[in-house]
Amino acid sequence: MTEPYAGREVWFLTGSQGLYGEEALRQVASQSQEIARALDASGDVPVRIVWKPVLKDAGAIRRAALDANADDAVIGVIAWMHTFSPAKMWIAGLDALRTPLLHLHTQANVELPWSTIDMDFMNLNQAAHGDREFGYIQTRLGVARKTVVGHVSNPAVTASIGTWVRAAAAWSATHELKLARFGDNMRNVAVTEGDKTEAELRFGVSVNTWGVNDLVAAVDAVADADIDTLVAEYEDLYDVAAELRRGGERHDSLRYGARQELALLSFLGELGATAFTTNFEDLGALRQLPGLAVQRLMSQGFGFGAEGDWKTAVLVRAAKVMGAGLPGGASLMEDYTYNLVPGAEKILGAHMLEVCPSLTTQKASLEIHPLGIGGKEDPVRLVFDTDPGPGVVVALSDMRDRFRLTANVVDVVAPDQALPHLPVARAVWKPQPDFATSAEAWLTAGAAHHTVLTTAVGVEVFEDFADIARTELLVIDADTTRRGFRNEVKWNSAYYRLAQGI
Ligand code: MN
Repeated sequence: MTEPYAGREVWFLTGSQGLYGEEALRQVASQSQEIARALDASGDVPVRIVWKPVLKDAGAIRRAALDANADDAVIGVIAWMHTFSPAKMWIAGLDALRTPLLHLHTQANVELPWSTIDMDFMNLNQAAHGDREFGYIQTRLGVARKTVVGHVSNPAVTASIGTWVRAAAAWSATHELKLARFGDNMRNVAVTEGDKTEAELRFGVSVNTWGVNDLVAAVDAVADADIDTLVAEYEDLYDVAAELRRGGERHDSLRYGARQELALLSFLGELGATAFTTNFEDLGALRQLPGLAVQRLMSQGFGFGAEGDWKTAVLVRAAKVMGAGLPGGASLMEDYTYNLVPGAEKILGAHMLEVCPSLTTQKASLEIHPLGIGGKEDPVRLVFDTDPGPGVVVALSDMRDRFRLTANVVDVVAPDQALPHLPVARAVWKPQPDFATSAEAWLTAGAAHHTVLTTAVGVEVFEDFADIARTELLVIDADTTRRGFRNEVKWNSAYYRLAQGI
């Protein structure tokens, strides 16, 4: 799987006009290049920032928008009105722009030069009102964008821009996302259903189903030598249970897990797929439910949803791209069971098997245990505790007339005690603002039991993603109140219907 930021770029567009004369425009060009260079050099911004010549008329602005749309390397556009760029010049360009937009409201200097300022300086450095003209036309046209305010030397500014770049990269990734489903959804489950045609329009994802026996054929075709190599890698990376090691009595089960991983990798690779689903009710001739294999593919950046849950697989893939290169990880997660001791409430999240080891920096344990459902052989799986720290859980629901994202800001904590009899990877967290408010809000939102848990990025990147996608996002965090959240859900129902038009 390719690194999601390699070869990607964001264009830096500067607005001005011909009124100021050549000398002023030369300074506009040089100052805007400095700002673009500062962003490009910032460790917060994971792609190249490419400065484009100053835009002075409607034709050039429209051409820049069309060129950004046409170039697959361009995942976003930053615009800054250095001087005054009369905003009617931007109508055709903004109307044509399909690439995510960030409006950077900044200026070249930090300090106002009180003792030396003259009319020339003031005329040159007038983004304070040039950007207000630009804000007006964006709002009048209904242009989705992120607005970031401040000097580029301020770390909060580059952090916010970097977050938006990660959301834009996720948007680009969902538009390249081919998702392979092995089998359909788990029977009778409601929330994992959804409108795949609408999802292709809204998020760009292409979701299609393959018969599980296509995968079985790929599993059967894996070469023994490749399994030998992968098993050696497992023994290097994980604490492998004695019975699974080479020479152990259940070593063949581990080899079958490796066989599944290699088959999935080649099958998805041939399709160009970056996300997939399985369903324990539909395993065909597979001998085990893929556990280890799914965990390993998620750790390589694939999106995954269990029980045919393609919507969560999309979220996991998006979160993988958002968090690429950052500490922490992302995984399919499921709210499983609670600690309801008053004052010490916690959620234990896990899944039958499929939790991504990117959530831990500890050495995971590779084990085999019975599954209890599905009627297949015992599956191999990695077992670990998620590292404590800040996280976000996010779900995607199909509300019939639209998709709804729901995010809860959480604090992953260590389990109160060791869990020696729980043979699956897991995470324990305290949801913000508190357990009861969080769970009530989550249920009120109709948010799913499957989520992505990410510990690599915060909620802001999902807010940026939702804005780019023009998709509802309900956030449950330290500021959430029961009354406020209930009202937001009601008001959103009206807003999103009105926003769709007739
Ligand atoms: Mn599940």
